[in-house]
Amino acid sequence: MSHDPNCLFCKIVDRRIPAKLVHSDEMTIAFEDINPQAPTHILIIPNKHISDIQSMKEGDRELIGHLFFVARNLAGTRGLDKGGYRLVINNGRDAGQAIFHIHLHLLSGRAFAWPPG
Ligand code: 5GP
Ligand code: ZN
Repeated sequence: MSHDPNCLFCKIVDRRIPAKLVHSDEMTIAFEDINPQAPTHILIIPNKHISDIQSMKEGDRELIGHLFFVARNLAGTRGLDKGGYRLVINNGRDAGQAIFHIHLHLLSGRAFAWPPG
């Protein structure tokens, strides 16, 4: 498991910083965003530290795909698929990435504008 000692999300993976976990398995955890932008705002992250999309390795294919299956399963069990939901990855400075440990935002419970801001 690759960990960055200075990474906030690695500390959440290690349970050294608390978070409201909604899912965990051998590859991922999911937890509620501390500053929710919608009635449901969950972050799904790999346990392995990968800083951004450009840093993904070929061997990460299954892991990255798994993030989407966790999102699908959480959306299904919570009934979010009825009205719909948005999955977001902010990648890099101009996209607004603040935490450089890949995370999938699962947002639901309101209508979202397009194009995004
Ligand atoms: P980004 O802008 O990198 O795509 O998203 C980072 C997200 O992490 C933001 O939505 C922010 O609210 C959330 N966040 C930042 N610090 C914490 C924290 O300590 N705990 C939790 N649960 N979420 C956090
Ligand atoms: Zn990390």
